[in-house]
Amino acid sequence: MTQVALERPGVVKLAALPPLALYVHIPWCVRKCPYCDFNSHERSGALPEAEYVGKLLEDLEALLPSVWGRRLSSVFIGGGTPSLFAPGSIDALLSGVRARLPLDPGAEITLEANPGTVEAGRFRGFREAGISRISIGVQSFDDRMLKALGRIHGAEEARRAVGSALEAFDNVNLDLMYGLPGQSAAMARADIEAGVATGVPHLSAYQLTIEPNTAFYSKPPSLPGHDLSADMQVMVEETLRGAGFENYETSAFARPGHRCRHNLNYWEFGDYLGIGAGAHGKVSFPDRITRHSRIKQPREYLAAGSTLAEDKVIPAAEVPFEFMLNALRLPYGFSSTLFQERTGLPVTAVARPLQVAEEKGLLERDLQRIRPTAKGRRFLNELLELFLP
Ligand code: SF4
Repeated sequence: MTQVALERPGVVKLAALPPLALYVHIPWCVRKCPYCDFNSHERSGALPEAEYVGKLLEDLEALLPSVWGRRLSSVFIGGGTPSLFAPGSIDALLSGVRARLPLDPGAEITLEANPGTVEAGRFRGFREAGISRISIGVQSFDDRMLKALGRIHGAEEARRAVGSALEAFDNVNLDLMYGLPGQSAAMARADIEAGVATGVPHLSAYQLTIEPNTAFYSKPPSLPGHDLSADMQVMVEETLRGAGFENYETSAFARPGHRCRHNLNYWEFGDYLGIGAGAHGKVSFPDRITRHSRIKQPREYLAAGSTLAEDKVIPAAEVPFEFMLNALRLPYGFSSTLFQERTGLPVTAVARPLQVAEEKGLLERDLQRIRPTAKGRRFLNELLELFLP
């Protein structure tokens, strides 16, 4: 591992504030999947929807003084399984958000849904509540793989959910996974092709990884070897590019005009408010960049007066690394203007690590942009380490 000392990055000084998004976390699922390390909890009985929406709006209210005069460019309701909430609860949430913070006209508003928790009527209800984009956690169209992943739905149910979503929404994403227990290259290809055949304009394809604090971590399944998984990744990228999707972030693929604006805002180091159990946020001020996070356990979150778990200023020396952690996921990279706008630091603050990364063939730059090379994308961690403070 090579670390290169950053030139004294000095103090953060932002000439303008970045776009502002809102992330809403809904932490319940029907059942906990064995590979999942998200803040998601198996529901027991009816969900306290009205109480939780009230708490979300209290979180937002408490954040208002820090974003006075700003507008929201996107909202993302993630989880967990937000589609477990009734359309009426999502309507109450979005009305409450609009009453407190203005939304850009045409703001993207995404809701995550899981097959097995949605039927056609529910999708229409979400659209009437103001949702404009649906992201469905399909993972696979193969019953054997879905069973191995401990999902509550089967392939047929997944197809029905996607069909119903497409009847109510133009903008639909499918989450798919590859590198699954017992999966062959042909099976992985069949899944990606099945995703394309649904006609959705956005696909996210993730390799299954075994994370600490999951059931798979304590009892690991047998996964495809390193070479087979790497071949699958190449197959995913080639198949989706061949089908007309742009690979605009490591795992994200979109037809023209369908990039996820909310996620792009993260990768371009924009601001976002985090409300709900375990949610994280980032807010910039002219002289500092801050991060906040909330109490994770739903029961403790609901009982707390203030739900803030942490609210801290990112030290100026760590800002370039945080920027790179996001922006280097973009194959087309970033401009030095964006670096300066979002970090409040001149690009000369990272002159040395940029030079070393270039010499190692991990990064390339021209007059307009700084972007990871194919090698840099493959060895992203090695590239990122160069920017550690
Ligand atoms: S449905 Fe999604 S969030 Fe819920 S446990 Fe499974 S992987 Fe995690």
